[in-house]
Amino acid sequence: MQISTGKVVLIDYTLTDNQNQTIDSSEGREPLAYIHGIGQIIPGLEKALAGKTIGETLKVAIAAAEGYGARDEAKVATIPRSQVQGAGELEPGMQLHAQNAQGEQVVTITKIEADTITIDGNHPLAGVDLNFDVTIREVRDATPEETAHGHAHGPGGHHH
Ligand code: ZN
Repeated sequence: MQISTGKVVLIDYTLTDNQNQTIDSSEGREPLAYIHGIGQIIPGLEKALAGKTIGETLKVAIAAAEGYGARDEAKVATIPRSQVQGAGELEPGMQLHAQNAQGEQVVTITKIEADTITIDGNHPLAGVDLNFDVTIREVRDATPEETAHGHAHGPGGHHH
């Protein structure tokens, strides 16, 4: 069975950046289970997996634009520290939920100074070229329940 829209796909993967640093991996965990063709994984990886079948391994280099997008410096802001409510100890790398005109947004603290903090609304992997090593473990039809829920069930998927 080939990977096409609506199939449940289980993959083992390792994700590295261009400096060969591992960003994420399914090693030691269950494979990742997703429903193909509905945007559950990044577009570049979904494109590369289409038409492949169980047992295949592939290396996929995905430019940032096809991954988590380019960095947008307009999403970086320096705000008064007093504007962060109810925050205890702040540290660079911490994520906060921020309210703005577009609604709630997750931002990462990148810098802390005496009176100000710098926050970055970019996805942590925005602007990062991604390299995936993928092994396809399973390809199967989605059950009616999975299709209705819009996600895969069982190992690597949702349990509920
Ligand atoms: Zn479900």
